[in-house]
Amino acid sequence: MGVDPNGIVLTINAGSSSVKFRIADIAGRTLFDGMIGGIGVRPEFKLRDGTGAAIPLDLRPDQMDEQEDALDLLLQISAERLPGRPILAVGHRVVHGGIDFDRSVLIAPDVIGKLRALVPLAPLHQPHNLAAIEVLARLRPDLPQVACFDTAFHVGQNRLARLFGLPRDLIDEGVIRYGFHGLSYQAIAQRMPPIMGDLADGKVIVAHLGNGSSLCAMAGRKSVATTMGFTALDGLMMGTRAGAIDPGIVLYLLDQKGCSVTQVTDILYKKSGLLGVSGISSDMRDLLASDAPEAGEAVALFVHRILREIGSLTMVLGGLDAVVFTAGIGENAAPIRAMVLDGLRFMGLVPDVAANAAGGPRLTAPDSAIAGFVVPTDEEAVIVQETVALLG
Ligand code: ADP
Repeated sequence: MGVDPNGIVLTINAGSSSVKFRIADIAGRTLFDGMIGGIGVRPEFKLRDGTGAAIPLDLRPDQMDEQEDALDLLLQISAERLPGRPILAVGHRVVHGGIDFDRSVLIAPDVIGKLRALVPLAPLHQPHNLAAIEVLARLRPDLPQVACFDTAFHVGQNRLARLFGLPRDLIDEGVIRYGFHGLSYQAIAQRMPPIMGDLADGKVIVAHLGNGSSLCAMAGRKSVATTMGFTALDGLMMGTRAGAIDPGIVLYLLDQKGCSVTQVTDILYKKSGLLGVSGISSDMRDLLASDAPEAGEAVALFVHRILREIGSLTMVLGGLDAVVFTAGIGENAAPIRAMVLDGLRFMGLVPDVAANAAGGPRLTAPDSAIAGFVVPTDEEAVIVQETVALLG
C-alpha cells in the first residue's frame, strides 16, 4: 500500500517551554510551520504559511496551560486549515537515542520504554520529547509516530572517537561520547553535494553554530568525530552553555562554593557561554552590536574555542578539505565566519572577503587550499523525510 499523496506529516521539536512544528506534504514541501512558546507562562502561538508569511491567531492565554493544550490546538489548526488532508504521521525530534537507535524508528510501547531509560542522559530534553509523544498518543491513538534522533548520525563513528578515559564499568553502562545536532548534520550531509561538488565527500568540518553549537568532522559525509559528548554541554562555548571545561570546576563548585546540583546545572546550562562571559546577552546579534569590552571578549572566546576544536578534528580527519558553516550564527553572522576563516589562513585557506560578507555560499578564493561554505540547515526537512520513509 502506498502513502496517501494527499496526506500530510507533522513534525514536533518539543522543548521545556516551547514546541517548534512544521506541517509538510509527503514530498517535503512546507505548508505551515511555527512555534508555540511560553507554555504555562505566557503562551504564544506563531504560525506561518508555506511562504514564511505570519498568520495572525486570536488565542486566549488560558488555552495553552500545558503542552497537551498546545498540541491539541495544533491538531485543530491543521484540521481547520487543511481540510481533507489527513495527518499520516507525526515525526519527533528526540535528542537521545542511546546506543540502541542508529536510525529513526516507528514508536511502539517498547521503544518508549527504551527512550525513557535514556532520560538521565539528557534530563533537560528527553522528558519533553517523550511527553509530546505521549500526549499525542492520548489525543490521537490512531496516529503513527516516529522518533528521529540527534545522536543517530554519529553512531557509526570509530569506537575511539566515542570513548572517554573512564573506568570500564562506566563505559559499559553507556557513559560515552554520543554527540548531538545529528538531524542538522544529516541535513547538511544531503545538502552539501549540489553546493560543494566533490568536496562534499572529502574531509569536511561542519560548524553548527546556533544557541547550541557543535562541530562535526565528516569524511565521505559520515560522522567521524564531534565536539559534543555524553551530554549537549560538551565542546564549543555556546549561547548559555560553557562547553568543555575542566571537570574539576564542577567539583570546586560543589565542594568549595557549596553549590547544589541544581545550581551547578543552572550555571553550566543557563548562565555560562556568551551570556556568562559577556554579562550582556546570549544573542550573538547583541554582542556584535555592542562596544562593551566584555562583549568583544565573549565573541573572541567563542571563535577561539571553534578554532581550537577545528585543530583537534583536523588531526582526527588527517587533513581538511572544507569548512561548512550552518545554523543561526553560521548562516547569518559574517563577522564570526570571517574570524574563523582568518584563523585558518596559516593552513592555506584564502578567504573571499566579499563573498563572505554576501553570505556565500562559497567563502574562499579559487586557489584556497581549504574551501569554506555556508550551507543552510533544515532539521525539520530531515524529520519529514525520515517519517515519510518509515510510513512507506
Ligand atoms: P537554535 O540553536 O535555538 O536553533 P539558531 O540556530 O536559531 O538557534 O541560532 C540562534 C543564534 O543565531 C543566536 O545567537 C542569534 O543571535 C544568531 N543569529 C541569528 N541571526 C543572526 C545575524 N543576522 N547575525 C548574527 N547572529 C545571528
